[in-house]
Amino acid sequence: MTTQQPTEPTARSSAHPEQDAEFLNHFRSMSQIGATAGGGVDRQAATLADGQTRHWFRGIVESLGMTVHYDRVGNQFALLELVPGAPFIALGSHLDSQPLGGRFDGAYGVLAGAHAVIRASRAADAQGAPAFNLCVVNWFNEEGCRFKPSMMGSAVFTGKLDADAALDTADPAGVTVREALEAIGTVGDFRVDLAAYLEIHIEQGRVLEDSGMTIGLVESTWGANKYEFVVHGEQAHTGATVIADRQDALLGASAMVVAARAVANDFSTPDAEVITSCGEFTVFPNSPVVVASRVSLLMDLRSTDPEALARADAALFARIREIEVEANVRIERGAEHIWGAKAYDERGMELAAACAEELGLSHRVVRTLAGHDSTNLKDLVPTIMLFIPSAEGISHNEREFTSDADMLAGVDLLTAVTSRVLRGEFVPAP
Ligand SMILES: [Zn+2]
Repeated sequence: MTTQQPTEPTARSSAHPEQDAEFLNHFRSMSQIGATAGGGVDRQAATLADGQTRHWFRGIVESLGMTVHYDRVGNQFALLELVPGAPFIALGSHLDSQPLGGRFDGAYGVLAGAHAVIRASRAADAQGAPAFNLCVVNWFNEEGCRFKPSMMGSAVFTGKLDADAALDTADPAGVTVREALEAIGTVGDFRVDLAAYLEIHIEQGRVLEDSGMTIGLVESTWGANKYEFVVHGEQAHTGATVIADRQDALLGASAMVVAARAVANDFSTPDAEVITSCGEFTVFPNSPVVVASRVSLLMDLRSTDPEALARADAALFARIREIEVEANVRIERGAEHIWGAKAYDERGMELAAACAEELGLSHRVVRTLAGHDSTNLKDLVPTIMLFIPSAEGISHNEREFTSDADMLAGVDLLTAVTSRVLRGEFVPAP
């Protein structure tokens, strides 16, 4: 698979080719910010490239008639006031990326939100008075690679994470979120109450592609336990130190990585898979001829079945106690972030399914393995989460790809859903 796939022929003839061309032009210019040689982007939270993307987005939405505000933790809100004083319906996702990430993850959803807001507001005039205002949100630091945890901005917004704790969080170089946000000039004191939240995202899996469907109606999140560990050993000579004396942190950490996969295999059933990986692994001092004194690692366990996840969690920690003895190391448990498997609003799925039917878009119910800002928002306000296909399920990778036709179908669906929500069909009009 190459990085620059040809544009697929549009499966549906467009009712509004000019608007579609404008969306694709915006998407292409956005993808140039922080672009990498492999066809992806590198826009980690509050880096220069993230700041450039935020300022670019501000220019786009202001040209579309919206006003832009930032809250204390750098969440970016583009407002379109249709009814003075009415509550806001928010559409959003995130513009930050993983290092060497794909250009669709998050960014598609924010731009699709902006276009859907404009299209729905234009249609609203013809359909009678709207009941709500609209806004597009670019949530700060969804990816959690530079600053942990992930979904930081939406966690603060929904009251799950303290704003000061988020602002004090430092990256590996010691730069805090507060300093990084001030450096790129995208922080403020804006506050807004939301009545509902809509998000569209690439699937990052292959269920839609494998089943030949265009739209995923997300019914629930998978449960996810994310762990931070530090394995403590003792620095020594890799040759001169006798084996019995060694406290090899790297040996202990490596055993943990292998143990997590074994536990996941043991507790997976045909109905509920348990998924795991270690995504970050840092060795100190990481030097030739030196037994590692310390390894910090991040790993996660995920499952659709909360009981399978709880059993796997218990088994992993039992195994870790054994590894401490076997490798002669001390394993410290750091912060843990637990997201339970939770359902999205059923009426929202029905509403989105009805819109997809009207538009002639094939659709199916899916679950999400990945966390999204909607994972947080759905615990605060009624939330609808939609997916469009990811080619081969490739994600967090420069080769991530979604066709123009699928992106445009998603904007059409999001617009239709927004129009209905605007008329009070999802949450009651005030
Ligand atoms: Zn994402």
